[in-house]
Amino acid sequence: MPIPEHLRESLADLPKQSGCYLMRSATDQVVYVGKAKNLRLRVLQYFNGHDTRAFVAQIDRVVRRIEWILTGTEKEALLLESTLIKRHRPRFNVMLKDMERSVLLRVARDHDFPRVELARRRKDDDARYFGPYDSAGQLRRVLGVLERYFRLRTCQDAEFVRRQRVCMEYEIGRCSGPCVLETARSDYPAQVKEVVWFLRGRTKPLIRSMERRMAKAAEVLEFERAARLRDDVAVIRGALERQVVVQERAVDLDVITLQRQGDLVVVVVLPVRGGAVIGKHTSVWRGMELEDEQVLRGFLLAYYDVEGGAADVPPTIFVDRMPSDSEQLVAWLSDRRQKRVSVRVARRGSGQQLITMARQNALDELKRTAAQATERQRALERLQRALAMPSPPHIIDGLDISTFQGRDTVGGKVRFVGGKRATKGYRTVHIKGVAQGDDFNSLRQVVQRLYGKHPEDVPDLLMVDGGRAQLNAVVQAFQACGLEAPKLCGLAKARTLKDGRGFDGDQVMSAQAVGDALHSRERVFVPGRKNPLNLRDNDPGLALLVRLRDEVHRFAIKAHRKLRQKRHHGSALDLIPGVGERRRKALLRAFGSLKGVTQAPIESLASVQGISPALAKRIHAALNTPS
Ligand code: SF4
Repeated sequence: MPIPEHLRESLADLPKQSGCYLMRSATDQVVYVGKAKNLRLRVLQYFNGHDTRAFVAQIDRVVRRIEWILTGTEKEALLLESTLIKRHRPRFNVMLKDMERSVLLRVARDHDFPRVELARRRKDDDARYFGPYDSAGQLRRVLGVLERYFRLRTCQDAEFVRRQRVCMEYEIGRCSGPCVLETARSDYPAQVKEVVWFLRGRTKPLIRSMERRMAKAAEVLEFERAARLRDDVAVIRGALERQVVVQERAVDLDVITLQRQGDLVVVVVLPVRGGAVIGKHTSVWRGMELEDEQVLRGFLLAYYDVEGGAADVPPTIFVDRMPSDSEQLVAWLSDRRQKRVSVRVARRGSGQQLITMARQNALDELKRTAAQATERQRALERLQRALAMPSPPHIIDGLDISTFQGRDTVGGKVRFVGGKRATKGYRTVHIKGVAQGDDFNSLRQVVQRLYGKHPEDVPDLLMVDGGRAQLNAVVQAFQACGLEAPKLCGLAKARTLKDGRGFDGDQVMSAQAVGDALHSRERVFVPGRKNPLNLRDNDPGLALLVRLRDEVHRFAIKAHRKLRQKRHHGSALDLIPGVGERRRKALLRAFGSLKGVTQAPIESLASVQGISPALAKRIHAALNTPS
């Protein structure tokens, strides 16, 4: 592809030094970030016809401007590239978008009595992080053991500071009570150390120490304590059995594989700690055009990133192919670890066995993801046919109204993209100026406020929870906004007698008889047609609409409950100058309720994050002064 006319001028000045280049779209968004030892050479390669990636063919259309930042060395360019990718989240770069699924465990170092907390991302702080855990079951098992055996505190810092007596957690044997009990305070550092051993997978020394304590307890005739320790050892052994021991030596390493099927790419990491596989992390990308080596490089940069990445860098990383720019990458990883890191292709022995295991997991994920994608595509194509659309609907929105006795009415919108939930497209609208219980005008207001103000946000297909009347309200709302309505449909449950006859509600039946005789059917309505479409109960398109309706229903109810709660709980705090949403939430989280905040002493209020001593005094005075 020759250099496009609009890029010629800027590319003429490209320097031959190392640095990063940023490709920007017509709306000035960064769509790609890259790094190069020689910027001129690298960027001009995009136009010499050797790079056949689909993204390159789109440069002419998508990229309006290319700018660059010079660096002293190629290694500096690598660091800058990682920072720029994090800041701009360019659509054509590799990012760990699926990392959000994973959860880490965090144990603070700057607290004498830390607890084990869940964390979504690593922060650049001094705390210890463990994981990532990418299945809820795996995390539940780990937390179960932690709670049952290690008895670290679970309360929030603010509560810990203000406690005068131990709480229920102590009574049921899940906390040793360091808030007030001196013996528990002195034992606590040893408990934390054991937790850290356990989470690192080094459980043998832990079990040995527990067995020694058990024997000692039996010696001094503390049979109850010895029995408890025996049970705890059994719990830990049980958890251990689920960890696959793969190395005889207590080595720490990560095993990483990348598998691809067309443009679907899966990367699986198996972290091995103390010789045992202690978890699994999976990242999936669709529409991935970069070559495998580049994807792997991008993944490693994001996965081991100081801030926002998931993992500590181990001394060894086994891969099934070397990532691009591997030398700089190894230097960067060694910097991160502050010790030498080795990245190796595992070709034989236990390394290769581990790679085979990671590969099996990746292929399994690939198969499952591909099957789900096919199923979603089938549902979209079915909807296309049923609703007579020119192409399968890529963006589908669902609308619903939630209210209680006509008050605190909230409209909810959820979005599915390619048949999958896209939570970034979820919105709530607090309905104003509409008579209580007037669902139709509420629906109109939702449409006007969501799409009237943002016509670019109109989806390919819009579904409302309801029948013909709701559909008419939506059609009128689009007309009132002067907007062309997208394809519309309404989903309503119809009750029919099991023998197929309709049920008009006037038939006299006992409640039991009604329950036995009735059968709920989903019916799909479209504007301008009196009768619903004839879709079978097991139609994949109908199943997708039902999922969308259930999701919007759940979302609207949640928003409505939040609004009601705010009205009931939050009002007194909202009236205090200096208390915004974040501080109000922090206070309610720390003290459980408005009553808890009202009763808290000033010192405890001031221990909540974001609350200064002066503000704590004001809050205390405002809540405890009779009106
Ligand atoms: S007993 Fe004390 S330290 Fe333990 S959870 Fe309860 S308040 Fe926190």
